[in-house]
Parts: sequence; structure tokens; C-alpha cells
Amino acid sequence: MPLLFDTLRGTLRGAVRENEPMSAHTTWRVGGPADLFIVPADREDLGTALDLLNQANCPWMVVGRGSNLLVKDGGIRGAVLCLGSLDRVTFLPEAKVVAEAGIPLMRLIRLCAEKGLGGLEAMAGIPGTLGGAVAMNAGAGGQELSDVVEAITLTGLAGEQTLPAAELDFAYRRCRLPERSLVVDAALQLRPDDPEALGAVIAERITHRRQAHRVGGPNAGSVFKNPPGGQAWRLIDAVGMRGAVSGGARVSEQHANFIVNAGGAKAKDILDLIARIRDAVRKDSGIDLEPEVRIVGCDQPR
Ligand SMILES: Cc1cc2nc3c(=O)[nH]c(=O)nc-3n(C[C@H](O)[C@H](O)[C@H](O)COP(=O)(O)OP(=O)(O)OC[C@H]3O[C@@H](n4cnc5c(N)ncnc54)[C@H](O)[C@@H]3O)c2cc1C
Repeated sequence: MPLLFDTLRGTLRGAVRENEPMSAHTTWRVGGPADLFIVPADREDLGTALDLLNQANCPWMVVGRGSNLLVKDGGIRGAVLCLGSLDRVTFLPEAKVVAEAGIPLMRLIRLCAEKGLGGLEAMAGIPGTLGGAVAMNAGAGGQELSDVVEAITLTGLAGEQTLPAAELDFAYRRCRLPERSLVVDAALQLRPDDPEALGAVIAERITHRRQAHRVGGPNAGSVFKNPPGGQAWRLIDAVGMRGAVSGGARVSEQHANFIVNAGGAKAKDILDLIARIRDAVRKDSGIDLEPEVRIVGCDQPR
């Protein structure tokens, strides 16, 4: 890694760091260090970073705001790419918008509302980037990304390519991206709407979230997907796991499908609660709850 680090540092215009604690890049505030953490300055820099990583056979992954991500305590071997500098938005005729993947979803929603473009407003308050929202097919209030994504630009092993939404197999909190690829931008088809009305929806959604998501500590939103026809929180409640504790992690008293870092939690504490909940729900109802959060990294440090 030291050689690759020096090469990346000497070549890229963006930031390159070694042994970066991922707890600084996840909303749960847990996670061991990434060997390399790269914030490309722009798209060209991203391409150069990927070329160098691929040539060196260095594994890499992309992180948005880490609002749906559990990084294990041993950290991440290889490189983590953060697209925070890729945040350009282009407004096109006929309510079309092309936005780069690193833009915070909330900023994009506000910009679109100001231009009188609807289709995203009910998702106001979902933390994270557009790229993370596409990868997760994030949604709320009856809207989800798959309703508006027309196409995405990907990059990874061999330069940029565009894929139409139909090839992404969008489903509930899921999207199928080709192996070793990341979203660079997304083309959205929105609808003309009244900026004031959109602003009112945004304000209402944020107020609602401030109340509903007051869970008393860093978290990653809903930990489990709702099973078909059911609600994860009800199943968790039914097995008495609301308020359960493991180390510094606790199942939220306010929202049984949230796990909170109540102070000094490790990823292993959260993983323990996830395993206990799954076990208890499986025994009680036969349902295998599927985590919505993405779990990455190693148990043991390098
Ligand atoms: C308080 C709270 C409330 C939440 N409410 C909701 C909600 O109402 N609805 C909902 O759907 N989600 C919700 N979430 C979950 C989360 O905010 C969303 O899933 C969000 O879209 C994740 O975006 P991110 O940028 O943080 O992605 P990250 O958490 O950083 O990454 C998630 C996954 O996406 C991948 N990814 C990130 N960027 C890219 C990219 N450019 N290309 C390819 N893959 C990428 C990562 O590798 C990872 O696998 C909530 C989370 C919190 C903390």
C-alpha cells in the first residue's frame, strides 16, 4: 500500500488519506479504518484514481454519506472512494435533470423544488447522496428513486458507460449495478410543479422526520427491510427486542427498527443486535428479516 499511496497522492488532485477511520464517514459513527480513502477532485480525477487502483489490483468501494452503511471494526482493506466533489446539476428542457452522484439528495431536492420540478419532494430528509439513493433505491412518502431515474452513468473497470433504468432491476431498496462499478451521475425525469407547493411538502416531510426519527443517537435509519406484507418494527416489537442492549448499541425505544449508537458502540455491538433480532424473529414467526443496511469490511484489523 505505501507505494500505491504515494502514486495516488502524487497523481490525483483530490485528497488521498491512509488509515482513515470510517467512523468519521458513517452516520452510525462506527467502523474501523480504510487502508486508503480518496476524494477525487472531479470526474477526471475519479477516472485516474480508478485506473491506478485497478492497475494495482487494489480492491475499492464507494461510499456516499454512510447513512445506510455498517463498516465492521476491522475496517476496509483497499480503497474507499468518496464522491463528495462530484455534485454538479444540469437542468435540461422538459423537466429533465442530470445530477452527479455525490450531491446530497436533500440539496438536489431543494434545487429541483426551486426550479418547479417535482418527483423527489416526498423524500426530503433522507440523508445521503444521490449515488447512495440510486444504489439503495431509496424512498419515502410514496416516492422512490426508481420512479424518476431514466438512466445512469457508471464507471469502474473500463471508463464510463450509460445504462437505462430498465437494466437496473430496481426493486424495494435494491438496484442491480454491474460488479465493480459505481454511479457517476443519474438522469432524472421530473414533472413541472409549483415551487411553493413543493416547498410546503418538503417542510412538512422534514418536520415529520424530526419527530418520528428522534431516536436519541447516531443511527442508520431502518436496519431491516419490511418483509412482504409486514412491518419489520412490529416483528421486532413482538419478540421483545425494543430497548435491547449490546455494548454501546441499543434497539431504539422510539422506533424498534432503528439501532442507536448510545455511546461508544462498536460495529460488533450493532452486529450482535442484528443477529439477535433475526434469530428471535425467525424463531417466533419463521420470517427471516433481511438487513436494509449494507454491511462491509473486516472483523479483524490488518
Ligand atoms: C435517520 C435516517 C433516516 C433514513 N430514512 C430513509 C428513508 O426514509 N428511506 C430510505 O430509503 N432510506 C433511508 N435512510 C437510509 C439512507 O439514508 C439511504 O439508503 C441513502 O440513500 C443512502 O445514501 P448514502 O449516500 O448515505 O449511501 P451509503 O450509506 O454511503 O452507501 C449505501 C450503499 O450505496 C453504495 N453507494 C453509495 N454511493 C454510490 C455510488 N455513487 N455508486 C454506487 N454505489 C454507491 C455504497 O457502496 C453502499 O453499498 C435513512 C437513514 C438515516 C440515518
